Amino acid sequence: MTRRHNDYTRPLGDYTCPNGCDLHGPSIPKESRQHYSKDATHFSRMIGVEIPGLYDGVCYWMCPDCGERWHRFADGRVYDAVQKEWERDLVYQVREADKGTR
Ligand SMILES: [Zn+2]
Repeated sequence: MTRRHNDYTRPLGDYTCPNGCDLHGPSIPKESRQHYSKDATHFSRMIGVEIPGLYDGVCYWMCPDCGERWHRFADGRVYDAVQKEWERDLVYQVREADKGTR
């Protein structure tokens, strides 16, 4: 089975998007590092997208450079809802593109 681009989550501390963009933000001051996840040295530029009413927290991640989206969760209720939203979005995009060719 071919793994699609968005079909995986990325571990905390991974500072690249699925397309390889560098997501390192500013350095976390040494005196503050205790408040962040173990081994974190930099803030991340990943965009955490919340969907009000679905889940109280980040539902999926987005790259500020290339716009790539990837799941936070590998499966479950939030994963399914996010996947459906993305699929609806793609249908919309294809329909909009078709309008110009008919
Ligand atoms: Zn990217």
